[in-house]
Amino acid sequence: MSLSNAIRQIELATRPIHPETRAALDKRWAELPEHAKTPEQLLGRCAVGCEGTHGVFPKCNLTCSPCYHSADANKVRIDGDHTVTEVTKQMGLLRQIRGPRAHAQLIGGEVSLLPAAAHRETLKAMRAVGREPMSMTHGDFDYEYLLDVVTDDDGTPAFDKVSFAAHFDSLMRGRRGAVRPRSEAELNPFREKFADMFLDLKKQTGVKSYLAHNMTVTPTNLDEVEQVTRDVLAMRYDMMSFQPAAFIGDDRRWKEDFQEVTIDKVWERIEAGAGQKLPHKAVQFGDPRCNRHTVGVMVDGVFGTVLDADEPKDIAARDRFLAHHGGMIFGDIPRWALTIKVIRAILRHPGDLPPLVGLMTRILKRAGGLRRVLRAARAGKVSFKTFVVHNFMDAEQVKPAWALIKEGKVADDPKIRETQERLGACMYAMSHPETGELVPACTQHSVLDPIENIGLRKLLPLEPKGERPAGITNGRADELADANGSRW
Ligand code: SF4
Repeated sequence: MSLSNAIRQIELATRPIHPETRAALDKRWAELPEHAKTPEQLLGRCAVGCEGTHGVFPKCNLTCSPCYHSADANKVRIDGDHTVTEVTKQMGLLRQIRGPRAHAQLIGGEVSLLPAAAHRETLKAMRAVGREPMSMTHGDFDYEYLLDVVTDDDGTPAFDKVSFAAHFDSLMRGRRGAVRPRSEAELNPFREKFADMFLDLKKQTGVKSYLAHNMTVTPTNLDEVEQVTRDVLAMRYDMMSFQPAAFIGDDRRWKEDFQEVTIDKVWERIEAGAGQKLPHKAVQFGDPRCNRHTVGVMVDGVFGTVLDADEPKDIAARDRFLAHHGGMIFGDIPRWALTIKVIRAILRHPGDLPPLVGLMTRILKRAGGLRRVLRAARAGKVSFKTFVVHNFMDAEQVKPAWALIKEGKVADDPKIRETQERLGACMYAMSHPETGELVPACTQHSVLDPIENIGLRKLLPLEPKGERPAGITNGRADELADANGSRW
């Protein structure tokens, strides 16, 4: 590389906002529907949205009610090579459209059914194009599997950090040791055990982790959200995410009236479990009918939100940072490059330092004050927490709404029009390299998964009767057979 080329590369690597990120954000903003272009909107200003994989390993070995996988997802064989190849293509398109950095979920079935090496190679393929992958799992796998995923064949760590989201709720059937849980509390030892695996992983390999806890909410377990929040907050999960159930996926698993569970009802119970209000109006990803979240610092049981919409100085700081620094990438870059990036950003906008100091002072105050924070930090009781509620839509509305979007028409029916608006502002995309299209996850699950699975059944027919996916022991197969009323 010539000297001038090397200088150009360094300049680009340390530029506060990468030009491709800027272009992707501007495009994202331009494509948002007008109703979503609000001051609190983060899409197109500092984020391009979440991404997810699909059509790669649709199978799952638990049986949940509800389940978003289409009815014949379990008739498709898990194939590691197929997963690596297809995810690489999907991520390539996302890199092209959504720019050099985004969070992406490795999802579409039960990720721990992938052979460990294929799981590892897929994560590497995602990282290679700037995706921060999160493996979405039911969490029912052993430490040895985790170790195999995060270490290369010679035993050296394949990653500095991994992200996993574990789904735990009492609507799930077939978990080892909790085949048919009668309450959410019954799952707490499993939640703990899952999180503890990552402490062991850190000790043994040095690999750090980010952990999310996912829970589907129906009328059956809505009132347990409060206690789950309380319990999981005491564990080492970084994010708590709740999904009110929707009528999508396998209709044999729709057993209740999901309409009763709204974002507001779930959020109220999360707040009750956290023991305080959780302000969320200062920031928004996509449409507020789809998604609600807040980020803050938890200091010995007290949550200090990063931004509070009722505090005008917070809003002024938010607007300033979004205008000047939205799109700055902090993750997965060398420390020296990050340091220079930050210095360049400060030099370009020195007036942003006082509002930043002011904001940090207010966060400390909300978390109980500096002394309390220092005391809690010494006791290891300070951590960042994110609360999320994601409200998927019913297939019954998504199907006609998507058909009309494809025809460039707006629905007369208010419910379908609302669905169109939400799809238009979607913050969770899946990629179709064969058409060059990104689609909302609601569309993927409601419209495209069933069609894809017909093709996948032919491409990846099930293994001959009697063969089991990797990692399934005899004892587990028996338990699953009891729970599912079937054998592999
Ligand atoms: S359209 Fe569906 S997938 Fe997209 S943000 Fe809304 S609920 Fe989520």
